[in-house]
Amino acid sequence: MQIPKRTKNPQIKMKRCAVEGCDETFAGGPSSKFCAKHRDPKTRGKEKPVQQTSPGDNNLVFQHEYADVQHVSQQCALEGCSNHFDLKIYPRQFVYPKYCPEHRNEHKRKTHLTQLAGRHH
Ligand SMILES: [Zn+2]
Ligand SMILES: [Zn+2]
Repeated sequence: MQIPKRTKNPQIKMKRCAVEGCDETFAGGPSSKFCAKHRDPKTRGKEKPVQQTSPGDNNLVFQHEYADVQHVSQQCALEGCSNHFDLKIYPRQFVYPKYCPEHRNEHKRKTHLTQLAGRHH
């Protein structure tokens, strides 16, 4: 019994990866468009997901789509504090301080809240 010889696919030729900016060449058939690296779904297409950051207690998650640095006026998140402070918003950064500069110190926040509670008596 004869085993048919595997013929080389004549359609295989050297191609250039279809991903923009990728200069990789590879041997591929008519349906392959990407180099080995970009054939991997993990590295192909799709923007990288925004890194998940945990905001923590002292931070504010500010969702935005600014492409440039922006200045916004943010009110201090501390109860009873009406201070506003300038916040510089960076593209693709979503975690910012939520307290005014004065109250980024935990001790000062406690002092402030104690004073605030005292006013009610
Ligand atoms: Zn490629
Ligand atoms: Zn404050």
